[in-house]
Amino acid sequence: NLDVLNHSIHVLSPRLANQIAAGEVVERPASVLKELVENSLDAGATQIDIELDQAGIKRLQVRDNGRGISEADLPLALARHATSKITTLDDLEGVASLGFRGEALASISSVSRLELTSATASKAQGWRVVAEGREMQARVSPAPHPQGTTLVVRDLFFNTPARRKFLRTERTELNHLEETFRRLALSRHDVGFTLQHQDKYLYRLPALAASEGLDAPPLAARLGQLLGREFLSQSLQLDQQASGIRLWGWVGLPVYARAQADRQYFFVNGRAVRDKLVAHAVRQAYKDVLYSGRHPVFVLYLELDPRVVDVNVHPTKHEVRFRDGRWVHDFIFSSLHKRLSGALIGQESLSVE
Ligand code: ADP
Ligand code: MG
Repeated sequence: NLDVLNHSIHVLSPRLANQIAAGEVVERPASVLKELVENSLDAGATQIDIELDQAGIKRLQVRDNGRGISEADLPLALARHATSKITTLDDLEGVASLGFRGEALASISSVSRLELTSATASKAQGWRVVAEGREMQARVSPAPHPQGTTLVVRDLFFNTPARRKFLRTERTELNHLEETFRRLALSRHDVGFTLQHQDKYLYRLPALAASEGLDAPPLAARLGQLLGREFLSQSLQLDQQASGIRLWGWVGLPVYARAQADRQYFFVNGRAVRDKLVAHAVRQAYKDVLYSGRHPVFVLYLELDPRVVDVNVHPTKHEVRFRDGRWVHDFIFSSLHKRLSGALIGQESLSVE
């Protein structure tokens, strides 16, 4: 009886529920890359190697040397709302990990052919898991792997043709992937990254020792690869601190500004954000030194107590909410303003301290 079928309420199959959730976080290969690398960083990896075929559409692989996942936990890694990162609401409010929603792997595996292989330090044996069928039952089998985790995502959107149609040319998707890669690599200079496309290295970034200062040659080399050779010579270094808050990084000289706002990186506690309040504070600080219509280049790191930042605003976590927005805004503005005006009237040494 069709009538009954159409109007009765029923619970969606896990796969369909995951495919719907995937709509929010898995827009294109670059979103898959972001989720996988964030997981590697959360797992404490110090080396992350990425391989792409056909701009990640055919194959996107992320391998790390992190903590790994135990055999018992493997099926849960692909289940929806399953996470090792928070347990209580209190954890959520002070969350320091990049992930916490327990949705990424479930979503990605519902719209691709995903294979996860992992091994922990305590076990010589590695294990592999794939999720199959409407119910996304996890199938676990032994597979060799050094400590760490490898995720292989093949044929993205093969079973969701409507989504697949939204993908752009390989060139465009690769640009998005590179931009995401830059943001992730800039977020953690203490982690080594490589990126290969079609067996060719696009980036090779060794990890920097934590002890290396902002002036160290390896950091300059890394920033040069990611942002261009001229970046450092065209930027001012900055490190400002007040009670409970710190802002450091580099702000581009006004002469180095660009026609597009495409080289602006702002990290809040290691997470790349695009935030209106932050953008406004930066704009204000540059207001008097920049021609209108030009956009400054910057790489800035804001560090403050995670409890005064809410990162659970949007599934992609690109937005954040500050408990005291005014305080944050004014701190960013005054830090940059001081640095920029000091440099421009040739009194760097007075305003840096
Ligand atoms: P979330 O990151 O929000 O917890 P995910 O779906 O991205 O959700 O991942 C689910 C779980 O799988 C994580 O909580 C983590 O325990 C485990 N996991 C995923 N990727 C890795 C990895 N590269 N290394 C170790 N554990 C991982
Ligand atoms: Mg995650």
